[in-house]
Amino acid sequence: VGEGEGVGGEQVDDAAEEDEPTDSEPGVLDVAPAVEVAIVLALGGNVGDVRGTLRQAIHDLDAVDGISITAVSPLARTAAVGPEQEDFLNAVVLGWTTLSPRDLLAATSAVEDAHGRVRDQRWGPRTLDLDIVTIEGVVSTDPVLTLPHPRAHERAFVLVPWAQADPDAVLPGLGGGPV
Ligand code: AMP
Repeated sequence: VGEGEGVGGEQVDDAAEEDEPTDSEPGVLDVAPAVEVAIVLALGGNVGDVRGTLRQAIHDLDAVDGISITAVSPLARTAAVGPEQEDFLNAVVLGWTTLSPRDLLAATSAVEDAHGRVRDQRWGPRTLDLDIVTIEGVVSTDPVLTLPHPRAHERAFVLVPWAQADPDAVLPGLGGGPV
């Protein structure tokens, strides 16, 4: 868009015109932080050797260039949401990253895939589920990566281990507050 071609004579932002309209700032998922930012990740599973899978997944995450895991919560056992199935074991890990949000999601998805995650049934049994709860300073309504995680505030299996790992934790955004 050239000068003066914007609606009502105003300048129109190129990026905003080309992208699908979202509430979040354009490009927020693609910006790598200038300095490391705090991350909170939630892990869970209910198929196979879940303790072993969670331990290995945390190791795998920490081994990624640009991700460091600094604290791991105790495990929480939770009844599954959705169809009848085994209880879940859940944990929350704290750390930091220098990756962009999209690259962090690619990394967590790769770790899920490495542990045989198959998405066949919504809310069905799974070897490993990895959610990004928060990335410091990032707010996104993009369905590809919504931050803070839109259901974190109503999930005891996220909040309880998170509070155990960080008693002063605060969930930012709408529906947020002291964990
Ligand atoms: P699920 O099958 O429940 O693990 O959902 C995974 C999908 O949710 C992925 O395709 C992600 O793109 C999307 N997603 C949106 N927000 C988040 C988030 N905060 N953490 C992880 N996945 C997310």
